[in-house]
Amino acid sequence: MKSNKREVPAILGNRVELQLLTTLRCNLKCSYCSLGVGDVLGSQRNVTYSLDALDRFIATHLAGHEIYVTFYGGEPTLKLDLMRAVMKRHPRFRFQLQTNGTLLDGLPDWVLGRLSNILVSIDGGEKITDGYRGHGVYRRVLRNVNAIRERVGGTLTARVTWSSADTSFEELDRLKQDFDYVYFQFVAQDGAYPPEAVAKKREVIARLVRAFFSSETLYPFIPIMGTVRNKVLPALATEPYAGMTQCRASTHLLNVMPDGKIYPCPDLMYLPEMLQGDVVGNWLKPSPLQPHPDMPCAHCAAFAFCRRNCMKNLHLAYVKGDARYREDVVEPICDLVRFLGEEVDRHDPHAWFARMPLSVREQLASCAVYEYVEIMP
Ligand code: SF4
Ligand code: SF4
Repeated sequence: MKSNKREVPAILGNRVELQLLTTLRCNLKCSYCSLGVGDVLGSQRNVTYSLDALDRFIATHLAGHEIYVTFYGGEPTLKLDLMRAVMKRHPRFRFQLQTNGTLLDGLPDWVLGRLSNILVSIDGGEKITDGYRGHGVYRRVLRNVNAIRERVGGTLTARVTWSSADTSFEELDRLKQDFDYVYFQFVAQDGAYPPEAVAKKREVIARLVRAFFSSETLYPFIPIMGTVRNKVLPALATEPYAGMTQCRASTHLLNVMPDGKIYPCPDLMYLPEMLQGDVVGNWLKPSPLQPHPDMPCAHCAAFAFCRRNCMKNLHLAYVKGDARYREDVVEPICDLVRFLGEEVDRHDPHAWFARMPLSVREQLASCAVYEYVEIMP
């Protein structure tokens, strides 16, 4: 008898991001590194699948999709040869690099010129960045960014994990001098959200939103741009992600570990039930990281623009039932996301959009960096 069940495709939508973890080794030891959970960091030093196997996997499962590759780690610049080999094999793909920025000055022009975006991790200001990453890292990263800036084919984006309650508006705002865009994400760490820390973050968010709406040009902060975009152009909050999370983990983000195993979220590679595929075994199934009835998003005031900010957080808090993580991390972050939405509403984003020149509207609507980060903080 024929089954009426329609098979769900492994990839939803026309695009797919292949996030290749080229090594799990890193030359820094950031104190909050999410790969530290489950001892993932450092466990696989080299890619052990062949590039022929990767090509086979791409041809079998990703044909017909627009493919973009993010080189990720560990620290991917430690594996320059591999990056170069993948870029040479697939000259039609788009490429992005996620890096700690300390070795950027060693990248050849050929590689820099072909990168559509470079995400550089930084934690805000100098004292805070060096506190988490090591003495001198902040200056070294900014020196490297300025040294390569003219040679990068695409954009440079600061990726800020907003951990410290002392990160100031000035420290974040300053980053727009050195980068084309600034992306920030609230740290997912126990103990980061006592009431006084939340109050300080709210103050900084309110100032960032004010700066966005008082700027004559586009104020290049991705989470604020994305929130405004989703409010004034709501179709763009759903279409590229089949209505799922904007970080792509439920639809089209494949994190390929150095051994070829594939997971939807780079922070959940320690959970066996999250295994989604394998380059060596040449199989792929739909992302197991999906919305669940116990998640609170459907009744949340922020849902229309947030669209389930971080599925990892929601999964751990509401599916795995980690009550402490829910109270200490997920609920405070959701409160901050709702606050961001309220602050944006106070400035009447529709009226702002109506008076902006076309060039600003276009950048707000279709900035390519939305495809490379989670958009929501
Ligand atoms: S703020 Fe939290 S509860 Fe609300 S939609 Fe976003 S992730 Fe879901
Ligand atoms: S936003 Fe959350 S679910 Fe999405 S990739 Fe990042 S950690 Fe994973």
